[in-house]
Amino acid sequence: MSKICLCLTEKTISRNLELIEKYHKYIDMAELRVDCLHPDENFYIRQFPRQAGIPVILTIRRKQDGGFYSSGEGSRVALLSRGLAFAEADKRYNFAYVDLEEDLEVPGLEEAVRTFGTRIIRSYHNFTGIGNIYEKIKSLRRIGDEIAKIAVMPQDLNDVMSIYNASRETLGLEKIIVGMGPYGLNTRILSEKLGSFLSYTSETEGSDQASAVLGHISPRDLVEKYRFRDISSATDIYGVVGFPLSTTYSPRIYNTVFSREKIDAVYIPFPAHNLDYFLELAEDLNIKGAAVTIPYKEEIIHHLSNVSGSVQIAGACNTIKALGMITRSLPGESVSKVWSGTNTDTLGFTESLLSFLERKHLRGQKITVIGAGGAARAAVSEIFRLKGKCLILNRNAVRARELALNYGYAWGGLDSQALDSMERYSDIIIQTTPVGTFPNTEDDPFELYHFNGHETVMDLIYNPMQTAFLKRALTAGCRVLNGMDMLLRQAKHQYEYILERDFPEHLIPALLGLLKK
Ligand code: NAP
Repeated sequence: MSKICLCLTEKTISRNLELIEKYHKYIDMAELRVDCLHPDENFYIRQFPRQAGIPVILTIRRKQDGGFYSSGEGSRVALLSRGLAFAEADKRYNFAYVDLEEDLEVPGLEEAVRTFGTRIIRSYHNFTGIGNIYEKIKSLRRIGDEIAKIAVMPQDLNDVMSIYNASRETLGLEKIIVGMGPYGLNTRILSEKLGSFLSYTSETEGSDQASAVLGHISPRDLVEKYRFRDISSATDIYGVVGFPLSTTYSPRIYNTVFSREKIDAVYIPFPAHNLDYFLELAEDLNIKGAAVTIPYKEEIIHHLSNVSGSVQIAGACNTIKALGMITRSLPGESVSKVWSGTNTDTLGFTESLLSFLERKHLRGQKITVIGAGGAARAAVSEIFRLKGKCLILNRNAVRARELALNYGYAWGGLDSQALDSMERYSDIIIQTTPVGTFPNTEDDPFELYHFNGHETVMDLIYNPMQTAFLKRALTAGCRVLNGMDMLLRQAKHQYEYILERDFPEHLIPALLGLLKK
């Protein structure tokens, strides 16, 4: 079973011990990063394993390997020796592991370390790419009892696929593999499937931009949000694909349901710069289904063998399900996954709006839709089905026109000329752009428009629950609805489509509580 290691990068021993205490129930071991300690603290590192009470890795990372140690190699080796000296008979009081970089030559120290039962982790770091990862894993260890450690920075999901392949090809070899950065998050979560001895975690509360760039994750999130302890080689994988995918609530929703319903599955965010790479990885990891979000809701349709009516009508797909594998006959093409797709934004939108309005249709309603992207397409197709009249306004007026012409609706740009038209379409205003989403919560998609207080205003954004746009509407006396209700309703339909089982509706209050935190 892959272990969870807490990486300790505080300036003092006592603060590091506090972190072990804080995350105790989530972690199996810790890594003391001596290069992050204040130099005065270096005198006390030898006692750390006894104080920690869990197995500890001793690491003094140089700047060139992403650490902070800038004094010479001689003093680094002396410091390593201080941490490993005077080994005690009770091994729990010694460092259980020491991390030595691939180019470090200290045979005397290594011999002493082995004699007293401390294991060597032989490490390699690459912050710009993955290099020839297979060769690296194979050649890194000097002696068979070492653990090879590879920490690399995948540049997209094709690099991630190479990591999984290299791991499979070195099955049986004891190793630690870390995919850093946003693309590597899945390797931290799927550490068990990857055959990695451990997964590194760190304190992320109040952490800086640099640790976010490295894709650090807290032990609590790894266990509670991503079900790390429940993942085995048999666990089914689901996920969400998009870019940049900075905010997504789906992992919280799905993984909570999987846990409560005891379903052997995990749901992972897959930020992807290239949709093809995601689909290749999905095949490789046998991903069973996924949510599809910005900017791939239209592009994904070209990859589907089967699309539902809602996709055909809305021209956008937000949900895909693996149907199986087919063998292709063209040279170079072997077995590939077959996907079907549907659009659950449509049903989620309709159910949310109609229940808010306490109506069964939109006949007689004059509606303005702001935006002409995937979510707007879903909303407009439903407004048409429900017999509403509609004006579509978009930053790029050509896109508004294209969408509007499908339904014989009015259209315009997001400019002062649109204000006159809006007066005739102001029973309901549906805001479908991402403008105002966290962290840019002050942004307003259409500041020129002044609410008269009679409009019903729906903003599809759910983070924050009240956007600047909704706040203005509320102040003017409008009835307002945010995107959270739609999110949960569409998630229910998505879950039922992908997993082919009923969504446990009794969990909705608990999910709402979690998402509002
Ligand atoms: P999308 O396909 O990328 O479309 C984005 C739309 O927003 C386009 O019309 C785009 O205009 C417009 N836009 C983007 N940036 C803008 C800016 N700075 N100023 C003005 N307009 C801007 O995205 P989507 O899939 O439709 O999603 C849009 C939003 O809806 C997201 O916030 C998403 O989270 C939310 N959503 C919520 C739910 C829910 O369940 N609550 C479901 C689906 C989507 P151009 O055409 O001019 O680029």
